Amino acid sequence: MMKNRKVGIMGGTFDPIHLGHLVVANEVLNMYKLDEIIFIPAGIPPHKIGIGASSWDRYLMVNMATLSNAKFKVSDIEINNPGKSYTLNTLRELTKLYTDTEFYFITGTDAVIDLPNWHEPQEVLSLCKFIAVSRPGISKEKVECKIIEIKNKFNGDIELLQVPMLQISSTDIRDRFKKGISAKYMLPESVEQYIIKNKLYLENNNDFWWNENKAGKFIIS
Ligand code: ATP
Ligand code: MG
Repeated sequence: MMKNRKVGIMGGTFDPIHLGHLVVANEVLNMYKLDEIIFIPAGIPPHKIGIGASSWDRYLMVNMATLSNAKFKVSDIEINNPGKSYTLNTLRELTKLYTDTEFYFITGTDAVIDLPNWHEPQEVLSLCKFIAVSRPGISKEKVECKIIEIKNKFNGDIELLQVPMLQISSTDIRDRFKKGISAKYMLPESVEQYIIKNKLYLENNNDFWWNENKAGKFIIS
């Protein structure tokens, strides 16, 4: 069947969203002439435990950060689904709902080399094309080698795209807020203000994600 729309998917914890995510999304949007990019904040990340903001806070911050771009959309599909977030379930749901859409899953090079450890990598790769964007820290050779390996093993479609590289990570930003070091210019000002106003990332709270429930978002602390 002929697919009429091309849509990028930017998955992540976005804890918090930063300029690295936004630059990458915009580059892929331009290079592949996509109709739009959907940012999908993960609900309970299967592999991550640490200091973290609630799903609701992360979802709001992604909305604030993407406000000025008409082609950036945000989906609550993962934060509203009970249980752990698996890309496989999300892709299954999206491809079933939007049969005329070709999906491009966007990941940084750190995430793409981890793909074999995802839940059901073979099926994930069968559902959409992958765009791996350059991220500082991993050599091009290593990534190219790993991509060939993944393609051979799982028969996926993965393209490597060089984008302007920003050495920004959410981990570093959380650490800065915790230590009181400025993270200005690494993330949108609205997101920075939201973090300060709501006192996010100030202390280690390992249980946060796991204790969260939907009512939790109405608790004012
Ligand atoms: P954390 O440090 O908590 O892992 P992160 O900065 O890696 O946060 P994620 O939410 O884990 O952000 O990333 C979502 C997606 O965006 C992943 O595919 C990741 O590789 C990609 N990404 C994040 N930051 C960058 C960056 N600076 N350049 C390129 N890709 C990035
Ligand atoms: Mg990450």
